[in-house]
Amino acid sequence: MTEPLATDPAAVVERLRATFRTGRTKPLAWRLDQLAALRAMLTEQSDAFLAALRADLGKGAAEAYRTEVAFTVNELDHTVKHLAGWLEPRPAAVPDAFRPAEARVVRDPLGTVLIIAPWNYPLQLALAPLVGALAAGNTAVVKPSELAPATSAAIARLLPRYLDPQAVAVVEGAVPETTALLEQRFDHIFYTGNGAVGRIVMAAAARHLTPVTLELGGKSPVVVDPGVDLAVTAQRIVRGKFLNAGQTCVAPDYVLAVGDTAAGLEAELAAAVRAAHGEDPAADPEYGRIVNERHFDRLTGLLGEGRVVIGGGHDRAARYLAPTVLADVPPSAPVMREEIFGPVLPIVTVPDLDAAIAFVNEREKPLALYAFTDSEDTKRRLTEETSSGALVFGLPVSHLAVPELPFGGVGESGMGRYHGEYSLDTFSHTKAVLDKPLG
Ligand code: NAD
Repeated sequence: MTEPLATDPAAVVERLRATFRTGRTKPLAWRLDQLAALRAMLTEQSDAFLAALRADLGKGAAEAYRTEVAFTVNELDHTVKHLAGWLEPRPAAVPDAFRPAEARVVRDPLGTVLIIAPWNYPLQLALAPLVGALAAGNTAVVKPSELAPATSAAIARLLPRYLDPQAVAVVEGAVPETTALLEQRFDHIFYTGNGAVGRIVMAAAARHLTPVTLELGGKSPVVVDPGVDLAVTAQRIVRGKFLNAGQTCVAPDYVLAVGDTAAGLEAELAAAVRAAHGEDPAADPEYGRIVNERHFDRLTGLLGEGRVVIGGGHDRAARYLAPTVLADVPPSAPVMREEIFGPVLPIVTVPDLDAAIAFVNEREKPLALYAFTDSEDTKRRLTEETSSGALVFGLPVSHLAVPELPFGGVGESGMGRYHGEYSLDTFSHTKAVLDKPLG
């Protein structure tokens, strides 16, 4: 017999639905109040969250504060600042034949939503979607990742102390708990994680005709054009790649070195790794650790092919894997066949931009495509001839912190988008209202 679950998911969802039915989550005042409470939690409890993130992922305090706490606070502040305006009904033009009449578009809350978060940014990826869900006037279940247990526990302990506990519930747990949650009927499911589980989530949602947002991953390439400043290029690639020890959904996955850039870039990448993390990255308090042994073994298993430019050192007991750059990597190598999601950066050489574009287009659509180029023509061609969740020139990973840009994937990298007003859209129904006088 299987163990009974700690929480009865049906009862949790029914409690949140009952709250939604009272209508108390709809007024702007309630939404702003909840967002203020969430902000208070993030600022007052930041030490508790930073300690949890250190325990789960070895995250340094500065990086964890910037990418988890401050990131979420910024998202929240942007939303609070604009929410009243975003919620204003938008007038729509009425065809002559219907006049006199008025038409407008309003955003309705959906009801009760489910947010399923992954382990790599376990605070940000649980709470940034919650900002959107609350801003849109919903009640919400948050399911943090069991692979970041300290952060999951901190969220479960603190969120109900700050937010309306009848409107927001945290359900902790792994596959059995999530499976039981997915049997319930929700009005939207927002899932961040890998595509295999994304398919499970979408299939479960289909039974209730529940819409989904799937924030998935994939291999995000970096195209490096000849003639660019390779020192600056390398610094910026290193900063994006080795953040959170490479466990970032939009981390540069591999480099496509166009023409003769590879040799110069190798040397600059090695220099940039030393400058960012020192001669011994294991001693850098800001350099993270691999989440668990399973991922550690998977990552060290990818080191077999290619020439090590820098790094390669590892320590299983500490779940430490040095920032590693591999050159001369054949496109058929295992490291080029799956999302790396760790601190290993392969460089693949391609003869020209045509080959780089073909390389990208022969593979699944990435969550992000990055390029370093001085050529407006290259930028135009990449914009027009490739498809990816985002396209970023010159600063990998940065687009995620621009709240007016949508964040999400396409194809295998996901569906739907969020951040800022896009989150409000995701968690609202865009309702058409037409008003024709009887007279
Ligand atoms: P994970 O293992 O923490 O899983 C994510 C969530 O799915 C967890 O809450 C987990 O409990 C749940 N889950 C796992 N198995 C399940 C099952 N069988 N049924 C129902 N729920 C289940 O995280 P992960 O998937 O390893 O995360 C890494 C992946 O997520 C990478 O592919 C990465 O690129 C992607 N990712 C995407 C984004 C984004 O914003 N697009 C952000 C972070 C990570």
